[in-house]
Amino acid sequence: MNRHQVIGSNNWKKTQQKIAKLHYRISCIRSDFLHKFTTSLAKNHSQIVIEDLNVSGLIKNGKLSKAIADSGFYEFKRQLIYKTQLYGSKLIIADRFFASSKLCPKCGHKKDKLPLSVRVYECDNENCDWIADRDYSASLNLLGLAEPDVMPVEKQEPTLFDEAGTKKQIMSNIV
Ligand SMILES: [Zn+2]
Repeated sequence: MNRHQVIGSNNWKKTQQKIAKLHYRISCIRSDFLHKFTTSLAKNHSQIVIEDLNVSGLIKNGKLSKAIADSGFYEFKRQLIYKTQLYGSKLIIADRFFASSKLCPKCGHKKDKLPLSVRVYECDNENCDWIADRDYSASLNLLGLAEPDVMPVEKQEPTLFDEAGTKKQIMSNIV
């Protein structure tokens, strides 16, 4: 909006209408993207593991609330629930107390704390050398909740994380 416009004037009203149209367009694009994304997930994957974020708890946190409200997590989850039923895939929702970010995907060590500002997971266990991107590490922990038939290992009894393969192998199994 042109900040020299007089509030309530005709030009101001026109600008308001333009802004409203833009908001509408953006929400259509977002909705279209979300539908395509959830359809593709449900159609092309036998299992999908997501975290059940404590959305209402996070929304109380001022800094995070806007990002989470904007991301449409509820809608994402709602679509995944009905689309996985529709396409016969399996949706696994990790318990909201599952410490996906605090666990080491290699040795299982659990950190007491991992502030959101720390983007790299570095294991505290002195016998473990795991250092990797925080979200990637968390996603490996979630992958461990999937039924064994999607585990990207060929051995009989895969341990949850140790033998999950390289990032590339895992991602090619997920994507
Ligand atoms: Zn470790």
